[in-house]
Amino acid sequence: MKNKGKVIIISGPSGVGKGSVNGELLTNKDLKLEYSVSMTTRAPREGEVNGVNYFFVSKEEFANAIVNNELIEYANFVGNSYGTPRKYVEEKLNQGKNVILEIEVDGATQVLRNEENVLSIFLMPPTLNELESRIKGRATESDDKIKARLDKALLEIPLKHNYDYVVENDSVENAVSKITDILIREKCTASNDESKFKELVKIVENIVDQKYTYFINNWEANVKLLAHNKEAKKEANDFDARGELIKILSSEVYRKTLAHGDFSKINDIEYVDFKIQKLMFKINFFSIKQRSDFSGD
Ligand code: 5GP
Repeated sequence: MKNKGKVIIISGPSGVGKGSVNGELLTNKDLKLEYSVSMTTRAPREGEVNGVNYFFVSKEEFANAIVNNELIEYANFVGNSYGTPRKYVEEKLNQGKNVILEIEVDGATQVLRNEENVLSIFLMPPTLNELESRIKGRATESDDKIKARLDKALLEIPLKHNYDYVVENDSVENAVSKITDILIREKCTASNDESKFKELVKIVENIVDQKYTYFINNWEANVKLLAHNKEAKKEANDFDARGELIKILSSEVYRKTLAHGDFSKINDIEYVDFKIQKLMFKINFFSIKQRSDFSGD
């Protein structure tokens, strides 16, 4: 049997540029991506085409789709309903294709709860001011609708940590190269390219071996010294501080660059070295257990 495809959620506040980023991703055939066209009760904007941008339906039709279990998820967004039709998504997944769902956070939460094999990405604007100008720039909506979209964004952004990856959309090109790499890393593509993450780990290994052996030895010694029962002693003896440090630093440099950085630098030794210098302050050299997320600053 063919392997099933993955559901790829691209979420993020209205105006962040999900559409432009997805449009670009869909041109890369190696990514085997299919776009799920949503159903909405919103009126079409100028230039939007039924069946391409959305299936534009009445409130009644939408309610029927819910009752007949035809939607994978649905949500209300500033006064209109939006939902993902089940049939198309299941068909494509069964053909081994990956399906992009471009949806807001309530719908994303439902998909994360109910579906298997999901990869979730949250697109962030570079700043709130930039988001405001992008929403206003569309000039298709009344002032109170614009305000409602911005208010909604302020509620959505704090939920970004529920996603597998957070990607800043400072430019479409940068965001697309980040998401493409994520898809390669998550083995969602037909291409033989290697994820930039692999090369990053090698760079981190070299830097750690050149500059941080002293700290690794300290870390292992401290952990042993502080181990006071049999179980902790065994754990301390088995502790591979070098391996752990490389793992933490690689994933943090990768994550931080996705969330805020120029992805073309991810395999640049000087850039990685600088990022590591800052991350080293955050390692707790007295404990095996580390904060799972250093992003609080
Ligand atoms: P817009 O009116 O700007 O096209 O969409 C408003 C919001 O609804 C956007 O954040 C968009 O991504 C989201 N959206 C579009 N289709 C769906 C869908 O099928 N389900 C959910 N939950 N949100 C959707």
